[in-house]
Amino acid sequence: SDEEEANTEEIPTERTNVLETINVPKSQHTFGKPITVLGFTDDFNITVDYDNLRKLLLHPEVQNRKAVTVSIIGAFRKGKSFIMDYFLRFLYAKYKSINNMNEKNRNANWMGKPSDPLTGFSWKSGSERHTSGIVFWSDVFLYDALNGEKYAIYLIDTQGLFDTRTPLQENIKIFGLGTLISSLQIFNLNDVIQEDQLQYLQMATDYARFAVTENKAKGIKGIKAFQNLLFLMRDWKNVEEFNYGLEDGHRYLMDVLQIEDDQPQALQEVRMYIQSSFEKVYCFLMPHPGLKVINNKKYDGRFSEMSVDFRNELSNLVKWLFGPTNLKAKKVFNEELTSKKLFQYMQSYFEVFQMDAPEVESIYIATVSSHLKGLVDSYLTEFQNEISHQVALNSSDSIANLDSAYTTIKETILGKFKEAKKMGNEQQEEKFFKILSSKIDEFYKDFKKHAVNNHKAYVETVARAEQEKALF
Ligand code: GDP
Ligand code: MG
Repeated sequence: SDEEEANTEEIPTERTNVLETINVPKSQHTFGKPITVLGFTDDFNITVDYDNLRKLLLHPEVQNRKAVTVSIIGAFRKGKSFIMDYFLRFLYAKYKSINNMNEKNRNANWMGKPSDPLTGFSWKSGSERHTSGIVFWSDVFLYDALNGEKYAIYLIDTQGLFDTRTPLQENIKIFGLGTLISSLQIFNLNDVIQEDQLQYLQMATDYARFAVTENKAKGIKGIKAFQNLLFLMRDWKNVEEFNYGLEDGHRYLMDVLQIEDDQPQALQEVRMYIQSSFEKVYCFLMPHPGLKVINNKKYDGRFSEMSVDFRNELSNLVKWLFGPTNLKAKKVFNEELTSKKLFQYMQSYFEVFQMDAPEVESIYIATVSSHLKGLVDSYLTEFQNEISHQVALNSSDSIANLDSAYTTIKETILGKFKEAKKMGNEQQEEKFFKILSSKIDEFYKDFKKHAVNNHKAYVETVARAEQEKALF
């Protein structure tokens, strides 16, 4: 199957040559590069680079690690890639990565030297817009927590959003998909939160509205469609009323999201659904980076040119986002996803978004299907373990009783599936119940054949040994 193929996938070894031509120290040549995993055809259809996506998410080092996916969206030329490159600098300084397992390269002073040029996702002053899409950083960062939990951290940049040349359909798809796959979505905004930007979240909240209704009907409460959303306010000016950082950001956000009676109905709804569809909503007020950063065409991103305020807040932000104790894995229906599971979800999301205008309902159904598929996989594994245990003793009894063991174990497992807290309607549940049942049967047919043959061979070997013993 697709998955098995991917499991044997090799680590991507090629390095970007661009690094040779720009001023990057030799020691940093294991630096990754941006990889567009999702783009668009001329007629606005989604194209997905599954090869690269597999290399990222099914890499043997990461596939069983909890996935932390931090993504950024927002208008073009508002410093998204710029700040992501500083995130990268922090991540490279603090964590090992799939391309750089050497612990010795870790660095306490993550910002590096004042004159180090900034590299990473391409950011340019006054540059042409690139094609729109979702871009992963090729290096995945790894963290082994003290409690044994293992994380894989992915950085995701988006391109093209809100610029006049990107069609609305593309914007909506990027926005929706980006939000669905990220554990934290950073909404990068300039100056203040504006109505039209809030309404951009409508797509996301539509989906949530559907999920919420469905869950209510099933009596399931407290499961939110999306995870964390961070409004990152750039060039924040109103420090008199709200100071930089997270705390005052929260106060500001509560002000903006407040529902007032005299607001038009639509605006009230947007506010209501933002609060009810994201698990947590944050806001961080970021200072202006300083005139040298925005005016000098030759500026190379070094931090010595940044305003002190910007540098300080950048430091606070990055520690809050990526500090080891702050890492939050991507969750769907309250389950923290491994990279491998996230890959499966992404596959089904992409399929749905490949449709012209994906129905909110079909996105939800795809999510539920992936979730149920995951349950089927884990219950099948449980069956396999139990039945294998049954013949581990290799006694004649256990072989003779194999069929009855199969019946009992299967019944128990199917019962567990029925009992399990899971999403979806009765039809979906029924469908995956049948899939589980037939997968168990399929497995057992082969298993029994082998077990019986093995046992026959074993009995013969024992008999022969007895005979030999008798002869000598
Ligand atoms: P993106 O299109 O949103 O990814 O923007 P880029 O990261 O490519 O940055 C575009 C320009 O914005 C660059 O010239 C940066 O120097 C500049 N820039 C970076 N951070 C900020 C900021 O916080 N405020 C302002 N006004 N400009 C910034
Ligand atoms: Mg950019």
